[in-house]
Amino acid sequence: MAAFITLAVMGLLLGLGLAISADYLKVEVDQRVQTISDMLPQYNCGACGYPGCAGFAEGIVEGKVEKLSDCKPGKDEHYNPILEYIKDHPNPDGSIIKVIK
Ligand code: SF4
Repeated sequence: MAAFITLAVMGLLLGLGLAISADYLKVEVDQRVQTISDMLPQYNCGACGYPGCAGFAEGIVEGKVEKLSDCKPGKDEHYNPILEYIKDHPNPDGSIIKVIK
């Protein structure tokens, strides 16, 4: 009986520790990165100088990318929707990401 209670208490404490840790260690994800990444060609070729389309999308959202045409395989059909999306989804401070075609 004592072993059962010990295991139950340990399980409860470990579960509680995991729940608290998950809250503290939570990584905030900017949903715009995934959306913009999905709009890119998805070749993951690295020609943009970033490690794949998700990296390039992250660079766009962080304001590090100046020209969408750095994505060499990209075309207007990729760039235009991204520019529209960026216009409609400003940064938390209300500023718009500065990037050109
Ligand atoms: S160049 Fe374009 S297709 Fe290639 S990894 Fe960069 S964003 Fe993706």
